[in-house]
Amino acid sequence: MINVKAEESNGMQLFEKLIEYAEAERLVLENTDKTPAENLPLMEARGLVFAEDIEAKFDSPPFDNSAVDGYAVRSADTEAGKTFEVVDEAPAGRPSGKSIGEGEAIKIFTGGVIPDGADSVVMVEDTSGWGETFEIGKAIPVENNLRRSGEDVMRGDLMLRAGTEIGPYEIALAASQGYGELPVHRRPKVVVLSTGTELVEPGERELSPGEIFDSNSFAMVAQCHDAGVEARRVHAASDDADVLRKAVSEALETADVVVTSGGVSVGEKDLVKSTLLDLGVEQVFWGVKFKPGKPLFFGMRDDARFFGLPGNPVSAMVCFELFVRPALMAMMGKTDHRRPTIEVRFDEDMSNRFGRMHAVRVSLEKTDDGLVATSVGAQGSGLITSLTKADAIALIGPESEVKAGETVEGIMLREI
Ligand code: AMP
Ligand code: MG
Repeated sequence: MINVKAEESNGMQLFEKLIEYAEAERLVLENTDKTPAENLPLMEARGLVFAEDIEAKFDSPPFDNSAVDGYAVRSADTEAGKTFEVVDEAPAGRPSGKSIGEGEAIKIFTGGVIPDGADSVVMVEDTSGWGETFEIGKAIPVENNLRRSGEDVMRGDLMLRAGTEIGPYEIALAASQGYGELPVHRRPKVVVLSTGTELVEPGERELSPGEIFDSNSFAMVAQCHDAGVEARRVHAASDDADVLRKAVSEALETADVVVTSGGVSVGEKDLVKSTLLDLGVEQVFWGVKFKPGKPLFFGMRDDARFFGLPGNPVSAMVCFELFVRPALMAMMGKTDHRRPTIEVRFDEDMSNRFGRMHAVRVSLEKTDDGLVATSVGAQGSGLITSLTKADAIALIGPESEVKAGETVEGIMLREI
């Protein structure tokens, strides 16, 4: 039996059940798995996280070497005014075969292998200069300007832990150990598809009466990129059941995640949900006590996850930030699923009488008291400018009154 619990009492049954925002957030993450671990070339691994611990394969640096340009010497031979005879040279990459005896030195450059017999390096600036002989100004201690084998990492050291994000420095450390590929949870393959007979590709032609340009699919691809994920954009499908079915089933073949916009509410032309169920997608939820984005649908089929976002541009983009982005992050094994979360303080009283979580677009100002938020103004779900003006989304709980000076949780959309 369906427990009918329509949110608005206009005599029509809308959603079977609207779930709380936090529950929707939880259900998405609970039903999202990491992609399988695989090895990717160093540069492609950037921005992902290690799927396993990485150990040092050998001591690094692999040999004792010089930290400066100068002469390798025996420190016991050194004293102020002493003259040395240069018997060979040891540039980086070309070790000298010779070992040094008393009063002898080998010309050495940064990274050059310390020759046998030498235990110290005197930098050229502390000598009479380059030549077949040179004089030193003062005694040189042992190990001077020496970089010891293994001083960075030792064979068997746990260098990089599973779950660590791979940035330039992690790439450097792994490369220094000869890793050409790194084990990661790969980026999910995303297909983005907007639906609506009214949609026209921007730049393609002028609008006819009743038409609008498709903005959602472009926004969502850009949001994927922001999350470090590539997405394939499928040209808007019309609100025709067959066209929609074909587009969605093709997307489901290849994608780990399919994100649609539009057609997911309760109108007669809203065919996304029924199309999905027809195609064997199992509904996890449909309808969230969330504004903007009540009709949000989330479902799964085998390893693929499906987000049906509402068509209103602000709803689509905000739902992407708050529900899709965390799922993409989780698939890549990242634990900081969200954009940075902050405490935002309003400069005026705010109330939410909508009975559902309200994601209010705010601008932020840095003050001595921390970040102060001001609503960007009209919050209509079709007002794209509410997002171009916003620095953050403030989450105001259902039926709550936030007094000026009180704080609520906010999600940063950009750095300020
Ligand atoms: P729907 O959820 O399909 O009922 O659409 C809600 C509103 O969002 C309608 O005004 C649509 O025209 C608009 N809309 C739907 N899809 C898009 C899109 N891809 N880009 C811009 N607006 C859209
Ligand atoms: Mg539509």
